[in-house]
Amino acid sequence: MATFSAIEIPFNYRNTCWFCGEPSDKKIKFPQHEYEINILNHHPLSLPSCKECAGIVKRSAFPSIYGYRDAIKQALVVKHQKVLSIGSKWTKQELEESELEGSAFEGFKRSAWPMFEMMQARINYQGWPLVINNHVLEVDSDNESFEFDGVIYTSLDDAVVHAVKTFFLDEALFTRVLSVLGKNKFSQAIRLCRLYPNLTAKTREAVFLEILDSIGI
Ligand SMILES: [Zn+2]
Repeated sequence: MATFSAIEIPFNYRNTCWFCGEPSDKKIKFPQHEYEINILNHHPLSLPSCKECAGIVKRSAFPSIYGYRDAIKQALVVKHQKVLSIGSKWTKQELEESELEGSAFEGFKRSAWPMFEMMQARINYQGWPLVINNHVLEVDSDNESFEFDGVIYTSLDDAVVHAVKTFFLDEALFTRVLSVLGKNKFSQAIRLCRLYPNLTAKTREAVFLEILDSIGI
């Protein structure tokens, strides 16, 4: 069993989501699955998260908590694009002085700006420094970019997303095989997983074992 070290939580931040600053509902483990510890550049963690941040990213090939945080922010931006666009279309004053009429618009005028500000604050939120047992978490950020087939991806996650789309891979299977083989056997992981698109949870487990068997692990 791996140990997931709890990050230290300053008094002012207790019950706060580390990703977005909203009240936290739970403690999450990072990485999500124990086998992903093999592709992690730092010690496994547990940290507070709100429900939305904890569930919004289904992918899981992240070498660091910072890469995972970036993916969460991107997903929040996509999901709440409508609310965020209020700030691009209007200023607070324009909205207040707008001639929008009718009861639907009155409601919009009242709630739109606070909704925008709240979402903007969540996207911009930076969390607090990660400290475990009095030690600041050190992350080798040079390792975040990832080269595959002559292309340098900004992160391993980007490369995984690209490979999954291009080769029609089952993402959960691919991430798991990659975790076992290691990042530098990315191409081999693709070759092994290409044969098995569209798996169910049950068949995925069997296929995973079959693959391990085929490479003698
Ligand atoms: Zn959150």
